[in-house]
Order: sequence, then C-alpha cells, then structure tokens
Amino acid sequence: MSQPVVSISSCPTYNESRLRHSLEEVVRGCGGLEQFLCRGERVLVKPNMLAHSRAGGAVTTHSAFVRVLIEILQEAGARVYVGDSPGRGSTESVAQSCGIRDVADKTGAVLLPFEEGIEVEYDSASVCRTFFLSREALEMDLVINAAKLKTHPLTGLTGAVKNCMGLIVGAEKKKLHARYPSVYDFAEMLIDLYLLSKPVLSIVDAVVAMEGPGPRSGRPRPLGVIAASEDAVALDAVCAALAGFSLPEVSTLMAAQKRGLAGSSLENIIIRGPLPGELRDKGFDKGASGRGWSFLWRIFPAWSRNLKERFRPWPCIEDSCNRCGICREHCPTGAIYDWNKGFENSKPFIDYKECLRCYCCQEICPQGAVILRPRRPRQR
Ligand code: SF4
Ligand code: SF4
Repeated sequence: MSQPVVSISSCPTYNESRLRHSLEEVVRGCGGLEQFLCRGERVLVKPNMLAHSRAGGAVTTHSAFVRVLIEILQEAGARVYVGDSPGRGSTESVAQSCGIRDVADKTGAVLLPFEEGIEVEYDSASVCRTFFLSREALEMDLVINAAKLKTHPLTGLTGAVKNCMGLIVGAEKKKLHARYPSVYDFAEMLIDLYLLSKPVLSIVDAVVAMEGPGPRSGRPRPLGVIAASEDAVALDAVCAALAGFSLPEVSTLMAAQKRGLAGSSLENIIIRGPLPGELRDKGFDKGASGRGWSFLWRIFPAWSRNLKERFRPWPCIEDSCNRCGICREHCPTGAIYDWNKGFENSKPFIDYKECLRCYCCQEICPQGAVILRPRRPRQR
C-alpha cells in the first residue's frame, strides 16, 4: 500500500502574499500542479460555502484563500470555476455574503449555481450506491477541494472529506441524513461519496479554524496552517491531530480505517513541513461530540462505538430563537413543530421521539439558538 503525502505550511494571516507563499509551498509538496493539470482544462474549486456569513467568520473557506488558489490555477493554464451547494440559500447569495462572488468577478472565474443533480451509481460503495451529484461538477475535468477546518457535532470534525457533501445538490443532502441516522453509517456514506467524487487535490484552510459549536455557530480559532494532499482522508487525519482530536473522535476517520484506507492512520502518512505535534493547538475546543471518546475507546474498544451512538447529545432550542422557521424547513424527519402551531407565538418544539440527532437544525440556525445538551430534555 503506498503512503499518502500531506504537505503543511505555516500561514498566520490571510495576507495575500503570505497565502500565495503557503499555497504554492503545499502544492509543491504534493508534487506540483503539473502532475495532474493540463493547460486549458476546466477545474472546479470547491470551497466550503455552508451558509451566509462574512469572510472572517470561519464558517466558509476564506475568500482571500479562494482568490489566491484561483490565481495560482489560472497561472498554470486552468479555466477555473467555483461552486458549492450551501446548506441553506442559493450559491449566489452565499457567495455574495462571504466574498466569493467578488473573488469570481475579479479573477474571471465562473461561479456555478449547483442547482441540477444527476444520479450517479457507485458500484464499490460500502453503504450508499446512489448519489445526486451536481451536473456542473460532473462536467469538470478536475475538482480541487478547498475545505475549511471546523468542529462538527456529527462527525467530530469537518475538513476535506466532509466538504465533498457540497457536491450533492440541495435537499438531497437532507435525505442522506434521514437514510443514515447512525453516526457511523453517515460517516461510511461520506467515505463512499469521497471515493466516488475523488478530488485530485484537497487543501484545507486552517489559517483560522472554527472551534466549539461548529460548523456554523462556533468561534474562530487561529491555527495558522494550510495543508494539502491528494488523499483527503490523510489530510483530515493530520488536521485532526493539529486540533487535538484522536482517531475515535472523528467518525469519518473511523470509517476510513474500517475500509482499510492508508490515510486514516498518522503512522502511514508522509508529512512534508512541520509535524502536527509541533503545531498542535492544545486548547482547541472540540465541541459537543468530540470529547472523551478516545479514553473510552482505549478502555472499552468493543463498546465505545455503541456508547457513542447512544450518548450522542440532544438539540435544544434556546430563548435566543427568533422563530424564523429555518430549522423546521431543514429537519429531515419533520421533528420540529410549534407548540401553538404558529411560529409567531412561541418557540419551536422538538419532538424527541422523531429526532435523529442529525444536528441539521444546529448546523443551519442563523441565531446559534440550537445548542446540544448531554441529556435528553424532558417533554410533556
Ligand atoms: S431555532 Fe434557529 S432556525 Fe429554528 S426557528 Fe429559532 S432561530 Fe430559526
Ligand atoms: S430536530 Fe434537529 S437534530 Fe433532530 S432530526 Fe430534526 S434537524 Fe435533526
């Protein structure tokens, strides 16, 4: 089995000349663009454009990072396109809010709407044989994954593998949560999706990551790192180590290990640049579902999977809710109701008997009003 390579560069700011230095360094460390890019090819840059957010909020891949990456690709002769299917809102409106629309206008890259999906079969799948992938993404010659490093309540961490979820159009993403409600089945589905879509290169923006209740309501946390690899699993394993996660705390790495993918284990990875141990952020807040499982895993490896599944936290809606109703639209099981059948009068209500603990509501709430609690709240 060949050893995956991950290239790391320190990058303390989003200053464009500093970004250029680091992005060129990590791309060179992965063998250079010329090994997979021919002049004139259509290249999709796939940032994380989860939802409306300003550029420095750490919710989306930073627009300056996307800009410099596009310029490097254009200088290498690529025809560059940018696109993602946000969790909420159109690609255009999210791109406007996070600065990527402006980047597209200034660089001449084409912003793709990601509205139409095509059913694609994956015969080697472990759990999910059919995906609805963006038609525009499928028409590209190459995909370059430009991910953001953030905490995530379901997978522990969202980085390069989870970023592939944005290749699935609109509400099809919600259906996958309903089809794979278990933490580990969902992670296996993400690995299937990654192996099917297989970006030629993945690069993670961890100049400023997100800690705490990510992937939307957490806090920006400077890590000062850009990392890249042809192997998104290996890249996530290294990024997880930078943020202080161990393997059992990141379900996509667990699924990759079960599949025998070399990148799931740090020992198999060739690292070019500073080692994760030297850059590790010891105070990184791993959020609600990234705590403590490595200890349990070491003591009770056979049980910890079931225990993690069983003791997943529960979503609760706080008083800061402004009753916009967005969580209700996005809940895959329709578990969110209003006590008085009208959002005008009272807070929404989660029926925990129907709740999958997929955390779509926490991920999408623009107010950060959905928080996760270790115990299931009592209901009438
Ligand atoms: S919990 Fe958040 S998304 Fe849901 S209605 Fe309240 S503010 Fe809107
Ligand atoms: S209430 Fe929230 S966590 Fe529960 S199923 Fe609906 S979106 Fe998922």
